[in-house]
Amino acid sequence: MGFNIAIDGPAGAGKSTIAKRLAKELSFLYVDTGAMYRAMALYFLRSGIDPKDQQAIAQACEGADVSLAYEDGEQCVYLNGENVNGSIRTEQVGNMTSQTSVYPKVREKLLSLQQKLARSGDVIMDGRDIGTCVLPDAQIKIYLTASTATRAKRRYDELVKKGEPADFDQIKADIRARDERDMNREIAPLKQAKDAMLIDSSDLGIEEVVAKIRAIYENYHKTV
Ligand code: C5P
Repeated sequence: MGFNIAIDGPAGAGKSTIAKRLAKELSFLYVDTGAMYRAMALYFLRSGIDPKDQQAIAQACEGADVSLAYEDGEQCVYLNGENVNGSIRTEQVGNMTSQTSVYPKVREKLLSLQQKLARSGDVIMDGRDIGTCVLPDAQIKIYLTASTATRAKRRYDELVKKGEPADFDQIKADIRARDERDMNREIAPLKQAKDAMLIDSSDLGIEEVVAKIRAIYENYHKTV
C-alpha cells in the first residue's frame, strides 16, 4: 500500500486546488472524488430523474459506469466511456450532486473504486468522507475549511473570471444549502475525522496552505 493523504472539507475551501498542487510537488496521484459523484449526477440529470426519487436513482445507478484515467497528470472522469470533465463543473450539476450523493446505492458504487485507487500507490484524495469512511487508515488527514463568506467570494470571483453570470447572495445560499445536506446526511456525512488536522484557509493563500500540509508530510517522515 502507498502513502495516503486524505483531504476533506466543505465546498470552496480550496481542497482540489491544494490537493492538485501537492500531488504535483510530491509526485502523488490526485483523486478528486467529487468529480465521480458529479459524473453520477450528470447521468441522473441527463436521464431526467427527480433527485428526490430514491428508487429511480438506485435503479439508474446500474446504467452509469464511472471510471478515471490520467492524461498528462490530469484526472479525467469518464461516464460510460465519455470524458465528462467539461460538463460536471456547473452549479446545476453541483446541486444535483449534493442531493443524490446522500443515497447508499450511489455511495456504494464509488467507494470500492476510490479504495482501489488508493491502494495503487501514493495518493492524495479529496472529498467529504475520505478520512472518516473511504480511507480511515490514511497516514495524514486534513480537514480544510473556510468561512461561508470566503468560500462564496472565491466561487463568485471564479465565475466572474470565466465571464459567467454570478449572484453573490445566491452563491452563498447555495453553499449553505450544500453544507447543510453534506453535513447532515445519514451516510458518510461531512465531518472532521478525530485524527484529522484542521486548517482554516479563510485568511491563508494557496501557497500557505500547501506549505502547511507539506510540513505535516515532512514531519510525519521524521517522526516514524
Ligand atoms: O467537491 P465537489 O464540490 O466536487 O463535490 C460535489 C458534491 O459531491 C458534494 O457537495 C457532495 O455532496 C458530494 N461528495 C460526496 N462525497 C465525496 C465527495 C463529494 O458526497 N467524497
